[in-house]
Amino acid sequence: MPRKGHSSDPKRNHLCWRIFIIIWRNSCGSYGMNGSNISGVLLDLSGTLYSGDERIEGTRKCLAALRERNIAFRFLTNTTTKSLEEIAAKLDALEIEVEIDWILTPLAAARERLMVDGFKTAALFMANPVKKDLGDIIETEDDPDVVIMGDLSDQFDYATLNRAFRLLAKGSAFYALAKNRCFESGGELSLDLGPFIEALSYASRKEPVCLGKPSPGFFQHAIKELNLPPENIAVIGDDLETDVLGAMDCGLKGILVRTGKYNEELLRNSPRSPDAVIDSIEELPSLLFAGST
Ligand SMILES: [Mg+2]
Repeated sequence: MPRKGHSSDPKRNHLCWRIFIIIWRNSCGSYGMNGSNISGVLLDLSGTLYSGDERIEGTRKCLAALRERNIAFRFLTNTTTKSLEEIAAKLDALEIEVEIDWILTPLAAARERLMVDGFKTAALFMANPVKKDLGDIIETEDDPDVVIMGDLSDQFDYATLNRAFRLLAKGSAFYALAKNRCFESGGELSLDLGPFIEALSYASRKEPVCLGKPSPGFFQHAIKELNLPPENIAVIGDDLETDVLGAMDCGLKGILVRTGKYNEELLRNSPRSPDAVIDSIEELPSLLFAGST
C-alpha cells in the first residue's frame, strides 16, 4: 500500500520532485557552493579584480553575470593609498563599471568609529586626497584625540613614523585603517600598512583599533549596505587571513582566489579552510550558480 500522499506511479513521483525542485530554486534565488544560498557578494579589489594596472581576466564577465542574476554586490577594499574618487577612476580606466557609492573603504568605518568615540581632532598619516573621505574631523598634530594611520606607501620614513610614535606616547588614541602584511602588484609582493602599524604598536605598547578587513565592524558595515543575512553573503579575495577567514569569523562565506598574493603554503598550513577556493574571479559565476536554472 502506498503511503498517504505518495503515488506508486514512478513517473508521477518524478514529476512532483521536478516541480518541487523548480519551486525551491525560484524561492532561493542563486545557490551552489555546497548548497549555500548566496544573494550578495563583497569583492576585494587589488589581487582579485586587478593586479597593478592590469584587469584580471574574467572580471567584467563575472560582474555582468552578477548583474544578470540580480546578485547585490559591493567592493570591499583595504586600499587607503587612494581616495574613493581615485579608486573609481582607476576602475573606470580598467573598464570595470562601478557606482562610487559601492566602493567601501576603511575610511567609512573610521568615520563611524570617530563618532562613536566622540573624537574631534586627529593626526592623519595618509595621502592628502584620502583625508576628505574621513568627513569633518579637525586635522592637527597638536595633542590630537587620535592618530589615524593610513598607507603612505614609499612616503613612510623614520621621521614620519617617529612623529606618529611621539603622539601615541603622549596619549593619543590609535586607529589603523588596515593591517595587511603585504600586497601584490604586477607579480611582485610589497610591504603593506601592517608592518608599520606593528612597529608603532611595539614602540608605544598600544594596540590599534583596526578599521579595515578583517575587523568585524567593517564587515558589519558592508552587511548593512547589502541589507542581507550574513550567511547569504560571500566575500571573495586573495588574502586568506584578511578577506576570507575574517569574513568567515563574521558568519559570511569566504572564497579565496588563486590570484594576487595567493600563497599555496599559507593555505596548506591554515588551521581552517575557506568555504571555496577558485583559480580566479572568472570562476565565481560557475561556483555560485552551479546547477541553478
Ligand atoms: Mg587583495
